[in-house]
Amino acid sequence: MEQVALITGSSRGIGRAIAAELSREGYAVCINYVENRRAAESLAEEIHSCGGRAIAVQADVADRRAVEQMAAVTERELGSVSLLVNNAGISRQGLFQEMDDTTWERMFAVNVTGARNAIQAVLPRMLRKKAGCIINISSMWGLRGASCEVAYACTKAALVGLTRSLALELAPSGIRVNAVAPGCIETDMVHALGPETRAMLVEETPLGRLGTPEDIAAAVAFLASDRASFLTGQVLTADGGFTV
Ligand code: NAP
Repeated sequence: MEQVALITGSSRGIGRAIAAELSREGYAVCINYVENRRAAESLAEEIHSCGGRAIAVQADVADRRAVEQMAAVTERELGSVSLLVNNAGISRQGLFQEMDDTTWERMFAVNVTGARNAIQAVLPRMLRKKAGCIINISSMWGLRGASCEVAYACTKAALVGLTRSLALELAPSGIRVNAVAPGCIETDMVHALGPETRAMLVEETPLGRLGTPEDIAAAVAFLASDRASFLTGQVLTADGGFTV
């Protein structure tokens, strides 16, 4: 039977590559976006032209109602979600002491509560089926310190805690929960840091390059596959050796 994947934040960057890869692996995919409708729809069209099934759905993951509606639309159009990838995320750099409430709260709302909202929206069906897979996109900054990234690092560390604890809670129900912790990946998020910082990050990466969105999509596809059927509660670090 065709598997269905919902990938949050999949109009651009890592999420887009994950949706494209999962579609190539035979999943019907829900491409979620918050603002970039055209980008999400162009990916859906690409997938349709290759004979795959895909829908593009707008929802701010921080908005529980919107996420519930997205899950309902996905189920109606594609079938019940067997794989959820919590990828939508935002980052802001700045000194901890200068971090205002709005920025702090928005980062937690999208990066942490967004994952909670999406999991709670798809979990009832997974529990009924006693099967399912959840993959959270954390970050290497959730595993080690990052100056001027305190709030972001806190949210990504929270996803590691969520992954491990939920994996234990859901294992008896046959649902696996894992995380991928990417290093520095070539996307808009890293471009925003500017050329000097990017060059520094390349230098600090033992494999001597930034990762590609496809590198992370391959890690997600592996964790979602039967080859990873005995893996749960794990954080797969895909960072070119940065944190080794
Ligand atoms: P990106 O290029 O900035 O893309 C972000 C994606 O998330 C877009 O599709 C965006 O949709 C969507 N999004 C943002 N806020 C959203 C919201 N509130 N609700 C729904 N969707 C939302 O980011 P990226 O670099 O691909 O990062 C993807 C994930 O990987 C994030 O969780 C990030 O923290 C993590 N990560 C990235 C790196 C890196 O080096 N790039 C490293 C470690 C971890 P729109 O197009 O509609 O704006």
